[in-house]
Amino acid sequence: MKKEDCIFCKIINKEIPSTIVYEDDEVIAFEDINPIAPVHVLIIPKEHIEMVTELNEENSKFLPKIYLVANKIAEIKGIKEKGFRIIVNCGEDGGQEVHHIHFHLIGGKKLPVNVL
Ligand code: AMP
Ligand code: ZN
Repeated sequence: MKKEDCIFCKIINKEIPSTIVYEDDEVIAFEDINPIAPVHVLIIPKEHIEMVTELNEENSKFLPKIYLVANKIAEIKGIKEKGFRIIVNCGEDGGQEVHHIHFHLIGGKKLPVNVL
């Protein structure tokens, strides 16, 4: 998929609205439009990388930042103590619908063992 057609790139470029909870030069986080739990935030790199299998030495330097931002958001949302889940779907069998790599930060309730 070209990045011009990518819904998450449009969110990054503020071409479509979203509720942004964190943003810096490298990553952005926003509320999932269809939350499956009281806290459901998507954390994404600003670079258009389609999925886990597209990661390489050069484009993966943002990865530690994702987890640091997840911690920050968990703190803001008040779920740091009780815990949460970070999920990344990859490809068709992984159930990935949006082809811009994203990390689901999910919490705010006791999650079932099998979620997503
Ligand atoms: P995945 O199935 O892992 O590709 O997840 C895609 C996620 O993106 C789903 O949880 C959707 O609810 C979410 N999503 C799709 N469009 C938007 C949007 N415009 N704003 C926020 N979240 C979105
Ligand atoms: Zn994109």
